[in-house]
Parts: sequence; C-alpha cells; structure tokens
Amino acid sequence: MGLCAALALTPIAVSAIGGFLLLDRGVIGPFEDIAERHRYHIVPVQRLNMLVKDTLAPVDEFVNGANPTGPLAYRSMRQQIEAEFAALALHTHIETSANSLLKRAHEDWIAADRSATELISLAPPAGDGGAARLMRQFHAHAAAASDELSAVNGQLIAAIETDHDRALLHYERSLWIMGIAGAVCLLTTVGGISLISRIMTRSVNRLVDGAARFAQGDRDYRIDIQVPPELHRVAEEFNRMIGRIKISETALTDLAVRDSLTRLLNRRAFEEALAETFDRVQRFGETTALLALDIDHFKHINDTYGHAAGDMVLQEIGAILTRNLRSFDRPFRVGGEEFSVLLPGTTAIAARDIADRLREAVERHPFRCGANRIAVTVSIGIAVTGPEMTQASLVEAADAALYEAKLKGRNRVELVPDPGTEGSKVA
Ligand code: GH3
Ligand code: MG
Ligand code: MG
Repeated sequence: MGLCAALALTPIAVSAIGGFLLLDRGVIGPFEDIAERHRYHIVPVQRLNMLVKDTLAPVDEFVNGANPTGPLAYRSMRQQIEAEFAALALHTHIETSANSLLKRAHEDWIAADRSATELISLAPPAGDGGAARLMRQFHAHAAAASDELSAVNGQLIAAIETDHDRALLHYERSLWIMGIAGAVCLLTTVGGISLISRIMTRSVNRLVDGAARFAQGDRDYRIDIQVPPELHRVAEEFNRMIGRIKISETALTDLAVRDSLTRLLNRRAFEEALAETFDRVQRFGETTALLALDIDHFKHINDTYGHAAGDMVLQEIGAILTRNLRSFDRPFRVGGEEFSVLLPGTTAIAARDIADRLREAVERHPFRCGANRIAVTVSIGIAVTGPEMTQASLVEAADAALYEAKLKGRNRVELVPDPGTEGSKVA
C-alpha cells in the first residue's frame, strides 16, 4: 500500500519540483537579472549623464565671474562622477558595445575635466581668449561624454527589453507547461487513488469470502491476498488459524470415533460406516462382506499374563488387521476383544480368503510377555449382504457365524449361509 501511495503521490512531487525549477531558471532568474542590471547599470549611467551635464553650470558661472563657489561645486561633482565611473567599471558584464562606449565617455569626461580643471584654476574673471577656447573644449568633451552616456543608456535599455520579452515568453510557456503538468498530475493521482481503492475492495472481499466459507465449515479454503501487505498479514494469520482449527477439529473427531488403545475406529464409527455401506449396497447393488472377529480365551490371557499384556495383544491385533487389509477395507474395535471388518465390494469367497489370511497372521504373530510367548488365536464369523438383508441382520449373521466358529473349536473362520445369496453355497 505504501508503494501505491508513493506512486500516486510521485506525479505531485515531480510537478512541484519541475515547476519550481522551471520558474526559478526560466522566469525568476531572468527577472532578477533584469532588476539587477537596471539598478547597477542603467540608473548609474543616467545619474552619471546628469552629473556630467550639471558640471557645465558651476564652471560657466565661475568663468563669467558670477559665482566664486563654482570650483568647489565642480570638484564635488567631479568626485561623484569618478566614483560612478569606478563603480560601473566593477560591473564587468555590461554588453561589449555599451562597454566600449562607456570607456569613450570616460575618456571624453577626462578630457572635459582637464579643460574644466584648467578653467577653475584661472583667476576670475577669466573671460579672455584662452579661457574661451578652454570653455569650448570643456563643453565639447562634456557634450560628447553625455551623448555617449545617453547611447550607453539606450543600448542597456534595449538589451534589457529584449531579455524582458524573452523572460515574459518563458513565463507564459511555463504557465502552459505547469497547467498541463497539473492536469496530468491530477489524473494520475485520481487514477492512483482509484487503483488503491480497487485493490483494497478486492482484498477485503476476499477476506470476507474466506471468513464466510470458514463459517460454512470449509476448512481447506485458504485466503490469497498479496496486497496491501497489512491485509496480506491478516490473511496469513487467518489461514494459520484455519489450519490450527482444522488440526484440533480433526483431533476432536478422532477422539470421538477412534479407540485410544488400538487407534482403530470404534463402534460409533462402525455404525456410521455400516449405514453408509448399506446406502451404497441399496443404490449400486454392491456386495459387501462383514467379518466379526473375537480373540479366543482372552480372559485366560489376561488372567495368566496380566491386563497390560492383554492390552498389548489388543494393540498388536489392531496393527495386524491394518497391515493385512486392502486400503479400502476398514477394521473397527467394536467391543473389549471384539473387532469388525467391513470389506466393500467383496463376495463370500473373497471374504473367506481375507478372513483366513487374518486368522493365520494372528496365529503366526509372536506375541511376547517378557520371555514368554503368548499363543493368541482369533475366531472369525463372515456375513455377506443380500437382497433382503438389513444392517441388524447382517451384524447378527456375522455374530452367528462367529458363535459357530467358537462352538466348532475356535481359531477358525465360519460363514453362516444366507439363503438369498450366492455366498451361501461357499460355506
Ligand atoms: P472366548 O474365547 O469365548 O471369546 O473367551 P474370552 O475369554 O475371550 O471371552 P470373555 O468374554 O469371557 O472374556 C473377554 C475378556 O476380555 C474379559 C475382559 O476382562 C477382557 N477385556 C475386555 N476389554 C479389555 C481391555 O481393554 N483390555 C484387556 N486387557 N482386557 C479386556
Ligand atoms: Mg468376546
Ligand atoms: Mg473372546
């Protein structure tokens, strides 16, 4: 989500920085330069021009004898003029042509000053021919310097106007660019926000769907959310929780249907399995065999070797049954030392083979109690489903066959014939 927000905000940041650089380099910079040039070039040149023109009056008044303070006033002006020329010389980046004109104006001013200095050093009134010649020279050089300064002023103003027009053009372009960038930025931000909201909606919907499926009892569904990372973590935690609940539910179910000693399914599970089997028998006409298996003289084993040895025998018989059956056959511990085995899709002949194999496996198995070998055998009764059979009659038939096996001496397999089945001929 952080990445999405960054993507949505990037256009704003880019256009803000771009806009600042555009205005700073293309508009603010040039306008500042124009203002600086106006302040440090044009204003001093105009002031200088006025000062040069103003020098004529005190010199004239002195020479004509009208004003004896003329030299003092002239010297003060000269000082200012020199200072202005010196200050302008420091600003080197005046245009080349204006710069050479400025130099000529300075030279003319120096020439004018030379004449003026000579004039104010004369004793008043100095109206002779030499003074008149000096005065003409002074006027001519001062006028030339003033004209040159006016020309410099004109050139500087023209250059500034060109730059001003260029800066204005740039400003107008910048406004357009910033307007377009603003629109693009707005569109991408709106797009980014709508993308974020779509991602959020989709992820939250997945979370809600997952929770609904969990509520309906689905323990295998896992919520898949990658973004935003916050919801990804919630989904991962939810999936882990479903996994843990599934494990504890399985353990609970196991506890209800499994026998804790032999780990075989118990009587309750047997009754459910029998009901399912009968359902299939009725729907598909499938033949199913039921074995009722009972340990022979188990009481004697308990009495002789102890209850713990009896438990060990029960556990090992459970393991023998599991080992020697096909994957789809199901053994159950239905009582103390009584077991049932459901053999789906099995005829009486096949069931007899299986029962014999189980009986022999138990007989051969080396049950041990310390150094003693315990002889253990089982008797097995077989019943096979037939057209008229019910769950109860199937169990009764298997029990009857088991009883028969006990009667006939134990450690044997018996099948009580059901008059309605093919299997009846096998026994
Ligand atoms: P039969 O050959 O006729 O079946 O004789 P039996 O001794 O096997 O049958 P009986 O019904 O007389 O005795 C069953 C014994 O099984 C009695 C009971 O104490 C014992 N038993 C039942 N459940 C357990 C168990 O969980 N552990 C142990 N060790 N013994 C059990
Ligand atoms: Mg018994
Ligand atoms: Mg028994």
